[in-house]
Amino acid sequence: MNLDRDPALEAFRTEVAAFLDTAPTDAIREAGRRTTSAFAPFDQAMQWQRILNDKGWAAPGWPAEYGGTGWSLEQRYVFSEEYARRDLPPLLPNGLQMVGPLIIDKGTDEQKKRYLPGILSGADYWTQGYSEPGSGSDLASLRCSAVRDGDDYVINGSKIWTTLAHRANRMFMLVRTSTDGPKQAGITFLLLDRVDYPGMQIRPIVNLAGEEEQCEVFFEDVRVPASGRVGEENDGWAISKHLLTYERGASVTAPRMRRHLEQIRAAARTVPSPYGGNLADDPVFQRDLGEVAADVISFECVEKLIHSGHPMAKDPATPSMNKVLGSEITQRLTVLRTRVAGVGAVPRQLEAIEVGSGVEPLGSEFELTAMPWYLNSRATTIYAGTNEVQRDLVARTLGRR
Ligand SMILES: Cc1cc2nc3c(=O)[nH]c(=O)nc-3n(C[C@H](O)[C@H](O)[C@H](O)COP(=O)(O)OP(=O)(O)OC[C@H]3O[C@@H](n4cnc5c(N)ncnc54)[C@H](O)[C@@H]3O)c2cc1C
Repeated sequence: MNLDRDPALEAFRTEVAAFLDTAPTDAIREAGRRTTSAFAPFDQAMQWQRILNDKGWAAPGWPAEYGGTGWSLEQRYVFSEEYARRDLPPLLPNGLQMVGPLIIDKGTDEQKKRYLPGILSGADYWTQGYSEPGSGSDLASLRCSAVRDGDDYVINGSKIWTTLAHRANRMFMLVRTSTDGPKQAGITFLLLDRVDYPGMQIRPIVNLAGEEEQCEVFFEDVRVPASGRVGEENDGWAISKHLLTYERGASVTAPRMRRHLEQIRAAARTVPSPYGGNLADDPVFQRDLGEVAADVISFECVEKLIHSGHPMAKDPATPSMNKVLGSEITQRLTVLRTRVAGVGAVPRQLEAIEVGSGVEPLGSEFELTAMPWYLNSRATTIYAGTNEVQRDLVARTLGRR
């Protein structure tokens, strides 16, 4: 993939840049600068999605017939580069990158008609109800049950770590519909068209950074329509494995990593080094930054190969490998950020970080966001399947060859 010296691509870049320079509101830009996890501040991210959708640009990865852009791989990369360069908030992934593609691939015509428009426009936000206390890596051991009763399923049990459930209006989830045979064989995938059913309770969990991002969700005799089932009853394991390939490697993330590097480099030029000059001149810092920069380049090469339809994209080990590399690079970048921010990263300024609060941070925006980002990124090697388990999957796949 060559992004240079193609006049058509350059014209496309100019068009993208002009739109991204003018379309986002100040609050959306602030939300982008205050993003400290994979999830940008909710209200502004959804507002931004509505603006992008009006332009037809909300889902570059979707097939054009369902509202995707029909862009080439090169165009998608150019878009991601221009997007990252402006520090715009990433769109929230659950609808656009996870359940949307799944419904396109596996949903009924009625489910596509009913759910895809709201996913695309940002009218709906979907939360992911998989994990349970005791069922994380060993997801197939899940116990939250759904019993068929007429046209409904009746759900009992609980979920945990359900990201932004308290802001969602819809939920996709895995439930146990049978205890016969192997544990994978009794799971069903359900789409819930509301999260305020009688008997359903959502409790936010405060994370390390002091923010409410994950939740616990409790179900007591919750009656939901069976028409929300994707695939057959007891076939949910295969459906969720299909969705996981989207969750673990379908997005374009390298441009955002490169943007992190640029910000870190720029901030390091303003920090004095105890050995004279500034931190950017310090050989130890240069070595550490250089090592991450080299890994970002290799990650980007792999990402481009995957998206360009290289046979690697079909390899079952690839999404796991991508997840391990991407999450570990993200963590290393946040370590470098906190190192550059130094003591400026220590105060916990929850009000100042809130978009639109108007509360002035004690230091720079770089310092304000460094520690929450570092703390939140501790979880990148856990969610979407822990890295230990991903490494195990890669090893087992390679071992079979
Ligand atoms: C910030 C965050 C957001 C999340 N968002 C969501 C969400 O929106 N929806 C959702 O459903 N879930 C979500 N999760 C849950 C996440 O998917 C689970 O935390 C994850 O699958 C790990 O499960 P666990 O926490 O039960 O840990 P465990 O499975 O108990 O693992 C504990 C440790 O044991 C290791 N381990 C376990 N099994 C093996 C093995 N076979 N081989 C080697 N090592 C092993 C693990 O790697 C880990 O280090 C989120 C989690 C976090 C932290």
